[in-house]
Amino acid sequence: MQTIRVVCAHDCPDMCSMLAHVEGGRVVRIQGDPANPLTAGFACAKVNRDHELVHSTQRLATPLRRVGPKGEGKFQPFGWDEALDQIVARWKAIIAKDGPLALLGYAYSAHQGQLNRGLVNGLFHALGTSRLQAGTVCDTCCETAWDFTVGPVGGADPESVAQSDLIVSWGADLMATNVHLWAKVEDARKKGVAVIVVDPRRSRTAQRADWHIPIRIGTDAALALGLMHILVRDGLCDAHYIANNTVGFDRLKAEVLPRFAPARVAEITGLAVSDVERFAALYGQAKSSFIRLGEGMTRLAGGGQALRAVALLPGVTGAYGRPGGGALLLTAASCELNYNAIRKPSGPDATRLVNHLRLGEALLEMRDPPIRGLFIASNNPAVTNPDAGKLRRALAREDLFTVVHDPFLSVTARYADIVLPAATYLETEDFYRSYGSYYMQWGHRAVAPFAQSRSNLEVAQALAARMGLKDPIFAMSPEAMLRELFVDATGTVEGTDPDRLREAGPIRIAPKGGQHFRTASGKLEFHSAAMAKLGLPPMPDWHPDPQEEADARRWPLRLLTAPGYFQSHTAYSAVTFLRTREGEPCCILHPDEADARGLTDGQRVRLFNDLGTVGLVLRVSDEVRPGVVLVPGQRPDEEAVSGTINMLCSDRFTDVGEGATYQSTFLDVAAWRA
Ligand code: SF4
Repeated sequence: MQTIRVVCAHDCPDMCSMLAHVEGGRVVRIQGDPANPLTAGFACAKVNRDHELVHSTQRLATPLRRVGPKGEGKFQPFGWDEALDQIVARWKAIIAKDGPLALLGYAYSAHQGQLNRGLVNGLFHALGTSRLQAGTVCDTCCETAWDFTVGPVGGADPESVAQSDLIVSWGADLMATNVHLWAKVEDARKKGVAVIVVDPRRSRTAQRADWHIPIRIGTDAALALGLMHILVRDGLCDAHYIANNTVGFDRLKAEVLPRFAPARVAEITGLAVSDVERFAALYGQAKSSFIRLGEGMTRLAGGGQALRAVALLPGVTGAYGRPGGGALLLTAASCELNYNAIRKPSGPDATRLVNHLRLGEALLEMRDPPIRGLFIASNNPAVTNPDAGKLRRALAREDLFTVVHDPFLSVTARYADIVLPAATYLETEDFYRSYGSYYMQWGHRAVAPFAQSRSNLEVAQALAARMGLKDPIFAMSPEAMLRELFVDATGTVEGTDPDRLREAGPIRIAPKGGQHFRTASGKLEFHSAAMAKLGLPPMPDWHPDPQEEADARRWPLRLLTAPGYFQSHTAYSAVTFLRTREGEPCCILHPDEADARGLTDGQRVRLFNDLGTVGLVLRVSDEVRPGVVLVPGQRPDEEAVSGTINMLCSDRFTDVGEGATYQSTFLDVAAWRA
């Protein structure tokens, strides 16, 4: 039995260091690596089963070419050389006729390795094609709002919760999406540190916390501003910290906070006045309060305001300046590597941008030139994009030449002309830096790629060679690419010897001292001049959203989506054990809402609005308020009664960052009828 150091490449903030136990060329067990203090020797319940993922009977063995209608999933195997030659011939013909903008290609988050993901994007950058404004389906709203507030820099170290005196998980279900932080939180809790969860749903994390605050969806900014109102009223602000480290607090205090008295905040948020007061008192009395900022609160129309308001709270009490205090959204911005060497080896500085969440619209409506060639790696947008129905109509275009590189025949791959079998992270080597903790590490290959599958990196290099690209990066070994990543690296990774990385295991790269700010002012910005310049509200505020109000008058329920505990991504759908543990794709309604519709637990139901209808199984539970329908996980169609939940979500943008607004979806639920 061999034990090989690997890194979990799933889209998850923990980015665990792991040990793969290999026997006879097969991964037989995965465990967390004790050498990484955050991973602390355990992998999550999903990835514990990744030996089943890598050796799944559903893996694609060879390249495939389509022989049936798009979407039907009928393919014939053919060889790699023929596949690559056909792709390149089609791309060259498209470029000759319409120019490189008629192509769009990208790799997204299902493989978090910097080399594999980066080089696919580097290929299309070098070709000068249209470019994906990636991540708007996920985190561009919260990231942009954080940058306006704190700057492009990592937040509090998750391991610092050992020094916290109050921990708040705000808009995150840590037991589903950040289990290694949750383990540290539980350690702190055992020592008497109070844990508060702000979440519209009584999640597993909320059940385990000391206090669950079941906020109404979309009102987080109002609650945060209400807390600030009370902190000011009760003299619980750190005036010295505010004066030295922030800008604009006096304006916020004078122009915004008076409108957020506890009674109004209670009315907006659906909470009791006494709970708003109690929360403010606990937060104000704590010295080293730690807030885990969840992305969930930002996936709606006013998401940017919500993130800004909550991220400013530690500036009011001075927690940002103390060990164990502050707020954590992401950490990756503090790992300043030479990413451009891989992602932008050559090609024009700017070309045409395609917003990730409006991929469907771009494919249907872009002209001069229309997009005629599409390449997708490590992403399943036909399930995960909002308005997934529109995207599928676009993918069905007969004149769109689509290539998908994936380990499995995903819903998106069913629409492809050519599907290429992808190696999983356990079959590829790569360099990883976490986006939710402060570690970087080389991940070794545990086993040879299954059948004819190839890594994203190999495919990018093979296509680059056939397209005649001469950039040296397209001929480099992974080791040489790693060296390029560290040329002129700055911040906490400055001076790292990349040649030591392969055998070094996890390397801690946490910044020292309190929270750094990298805004234009160099301070925490309660008032953002940069936002004002862009015509955005410069101070956090809360107003009802007119579109949401109009939709709420037509549709009685508001959608809440959340990662499933065993099916947080569609990538896990190939693991039967995890699918079984997660259960049938379902929606959850409060008993009052189920009764009002004559619906019972376990019944098949349809969820519908103007965008379409999907079919799920009903669970009746008071874990959500009346007026809400919760859908956990983004489950592929073949598992559900019908369709996938994102078919009901529009492609509207958030207030900042042009992000997705899944939680601004209104709908109704009724008994299923085919
Ligand atoms: S917790 Fe996240 S990083 Fe760790 S093994 Fe699970 S999915 Fe991977």
